Amino acid sequence: MKPKPLLLLNIGQLLTLRSATGGPRRGASLSELGIILDAAVLCLGGKIVSIGTTKDALRDPWLKKNRKKIIEIDCGGRVVLPGFVDSHTHPAFTHPRLVDFEKRISGARYEEIAEAGGGIRSSIDGVRRVSKGALARKVSAVLADLACHGTTTVEAKSGYGLSLVSELKSLEAIRAAACEWAGTVVPTFLGAHVVPPEYRKRSQEYVDLVCSEMIPVVAKRKLAQFVDVFCDRGAFSAAETAQIFAAAEEHGLAVRAHLGQLSETRLGPLLRYRPASLDHMDQVNDEDLPALAQSDTVATFVPGANYFLGLAKYPEARRFIESGVAVSLATDYNPGSSPTLSVPMAMSLACTHMKMSPAEAIAAATINGAWALRLARRKGSVEAGKDADLAVFDVSDYREIPYWFGTNRCVLTIMNGVPSDSLSGGERK
Ligand SMILES: [Zn+2]
Repeated sequence: MKPKPLLLLNIGQLLTLRSATGGPRRGASLSELGIILDAAVLCLGGKIVSIGTTKDALRDPWLKKNRKKIIEIDCGGRVVLPGFVDSHTHPAFTHPRLVDFEKRISGARYEEIAEAGGGIRSSIDGVRRVSKGALARKVSAVLADLACHGTTTVEAKSGYGLSLVSELKSLEAIRAAACEWAGTVVPTFLGAHVVPPEYRKRSQEYVDLVCSEMIPVVAKRKLAQFVDVFCDRGAFSAAETAQIFAAAEEHGLAVRAHLGQLSETRLGPLLRYRPASLDHMDQVNDEDLPALAQSDTVATFVPGANYFLGLAKYPEARRFIESGVAVSLATDYNPGSSPTLSVPMAMSLACTHMKMSPAEAIAAATINGAWALRLARRKGSVEAGKDADLAVFDVSDYREIPYWFGTNRCVLTIMNGVPSDSLSGGERK
């Protein structure tokens, strides 16, 4: 059933993020929000059909004639922007990692926790034991929570199963949850998250398993759009990553990678596979930035991980932006290093710790997030013809979104034309 016609009016600031250029935002264009004051947005059949001022919208003859059939939402001067595109999350896990949390506070490092049998291993045990239905319910709860925080499109990775059976279970749980959600889920196969314990010291054998057994099945069952690899010290080498990318390419899947969180990897050999995005990017060689800027690959920062791991250093966003690299922002929602699903929190960290302006942070988490998922034709901006994905924030200036950190100011989310029900009843007609 198609969503009912929807009219949002009296929008104080509508951030359209509309763009004349054909590619992701780079350099100065990252700050252009395309703001319309006292705006209105009309959505039909789950798509945006027109945007403009409230005054012009109410003069529209079609609207006058059909007003009774339309659900009207009076935004009361609030800010409306494209729903966030969170292009990096790991929602398929079973429990929070509270032991790691305490251990880290008392001084243990990420790798020491892993060596002591904590860390990702406890998430792997949880996912291997859980039923598909129970895991799907966990993912569903995450999706509902994301929508409450203004996210309407999310990339969701597997990666805590690390066996054929448990990775398929994770991807099927993601698919089941996605079918029940009004928003958009982009599934990613992350079989190469870490070498599982039973393959310890036999990483090449595990890489071969990922390439020759897992990727073909995932591709055949259309369970993922992307293949991701954790390419870093203690996970997979650049050569192993290239091998996995080649297998993905062979089976028609696009690629992305976790890169440069703990150690530097040169980008040249990986850019050949045209990854949609390279994520983290805390350590990057300056000499690689021009090639990255020339490519369509987006650099995705996940400052929630830096924050939660208590790091003093954050990705050097200004270096990337000034080099012309397309950058995006995501939560990296996961139980080990970034248990937040709040894009505004990631934006706030980007502003305070990475010196991105509020406008740059918003563009990075909307239109450039859409580019990082290769969905920019449908997502990431408020333009006629695009999917009706909108977030209403109870603020009167967009800069308040990253400013009020740690509280949720999102009062309504519209996903593919379907409004969530969090705006207080009196203001919805
Ligand atoms: Zn991640």
